[in-house]
Amino acid sequence: MGLLLHAEGNGASTSQRLVKSFAPATGELLGEIHAATRDEAHAVVERARRAQAAWGVLPIEERCERLLRLRDALVDRVEEIVEVISKECGKPRGEALTQEVTVTVDLLTYYCKNAPRILAPRDIGLHLLKHKASAVHYAPRGVVGIISPWNFPFVIPMGDAVAALVAGNAVVIKPSEVTPLTIAKAKEIWDSTGLPEDLFGVVYGFGEAGQALIESGIQKLVFTGAVDTGKRVAAACGANLVPCVMELGGKAPLIACADCDVERTARAIVFGGFVNAGQVCISVERVYAHETIHDKLLSRVRDLTKELRVGNPEGDGVDVGAIIFPKQIEIAEKHIQDAVSKGAEIVTGGKRRPDGQFFEPTVLANCNHSMTVMKQEIFGPVVPIQKVSSEEEAIRLANDSHLGLNAYVFTKDRAKGKRIAARIDAGNVVINDVLLNYAAAEAPFGGVKQSGYGRIHGEDALREMCETRQVLSSR
Ligand code: NAD
Repeated sequence: MGLLLHAEGNGASTSQRLVKSFAPATGELLGEIHAATRDEAHAVVERARRAQAAWGVLPIEERCERLLRLRDALVDRVEEIVEVISKECGKPRGEALTQEVTVTVDLLTYYCKNAPRILAPRDIGLHLLKHKASAVHYAPRGVVGIISPWNFPFVIPMGDAVAALVAGNAVVIKPSEVTPLTIAKAKEIWDSTGLPEDLFGVVYGFGEAGQALIESGIQKLVFTGAVDTGKRVAAACGANLVPCVMELGGKAPLIACADCDVERTARAIVFGGFVNAGQVCISVERVYAHETIHDKLLSRVRDLTKELRVGNPEGDGVDVGAIIFPKQIEIAEKHIQDAVSKGAEIVTGGKRRPDGQFFEPTVLANCNHSMTVMKQEIFGPVVPIQKVSSEEEAIRLANDSHLGLNAYVFTKDRAKGKRIAARIDAGNVVINDVLLNYAAAEAPFGGVKQSGYGRIHGEDALREMCETRQVLSSR
């Protein structure tokens, strides 16, 4: 690829820091982009604000119709997008296609189809002031900032951008410094659609660029990233009174009840634990298996895991790609060492591979809550399993966490599954499946506890992209 792009703004000086993109599977330098200075970041926001002034007053039907041009362009250029995501993130092309581009296109379609209904003014009855009429209107906020991570470098920022744009806002995205080229491709495609270029701004850079975006006068921020970063970002938003959505880390428990379909559960664990090499905020991060099915489930999970082919995602039939950077490998190794020192057994995997930034998909048995692997986010291809003797114990352990993003329950008794779901502290609970809730455009997604607050996707998220305005009048 070998790209050198300039940050948007007044032109970057050569003394500025560079954001470098490396292919995790090969170590190849894919491109470099100048990090935006504070002034440049603010200039991008200012241009976005001017573009929004014209965009925000268009009838919503017209905005939706125009945004469908973006959908057409994304579909036309899907190969290019998949290529850059797969290279820059080290994930198999099939995952880039189905979990990033397809989900974005579906979100765009859903919002363009439904936004006129969702954002239509609503009359509300007033029981005290009967002689007055009141209506709630949804007005654009202005400029929405989006700060995003590297693990889904396309669907996360683009999904948020689509909702903000449909609602009449401009967006300014600060992509992860690890995966800047994916958004550079999205920006190139946006600019080719004839939609106002400044309506979709990008600020490249590190944490400082994100901080500059928060302090630039934006009207809302959607932040996705780690819990510790989220705390700093929320504090900065507080200092600037910027309303924000926080999409932070996860430690998704999977409860395998005594009556679960063992084969289905095992397949779900292996998919949910190792897709994107486990670098997913809603990965299966810990399993609580009822003692009556534990051994059978463990042996099936082991066999299925051993079948996974690990390697460069450009190779044929690769199931598990690269780990994004060496530090993530070290984190996985530390968790495994800690678990083994406290009595866990490595059932399969457990090691980094000598041929690059890859880690063997790992299954650990005999795990318990004294181990970091059951308590802290791993964000790598490691699935720890703990045997439990009752559903009560499983629920208690599932809730013994500072995080609460996704949770999974496997049982043949759907009513019981729903009863368990109601008792788990999580923003999203999936029964007899894994991960796919993120791909449901209509379904609100987000966390509780330190997994964050606010929601993306669905009707609530679209309304949250707006200022709620009440108009009270005499009848
Ligand atoms: P990270 O927190 O290191 O970085 C996220 C973004 O924040 C990056 O763009 C980074 O440059 C920016 N940033 C860093 N410091 C900042 C500051 N002081 N001010 C403003 N911006 C700043 O996260 P990461 O390593 O890129 O992503 C992995 C984490 O993201 C995991 O914890 C994962 O669970 C979480 N995640 C959550 C969701 C979700 O929907 N809840 C989705 C994907 C990833």
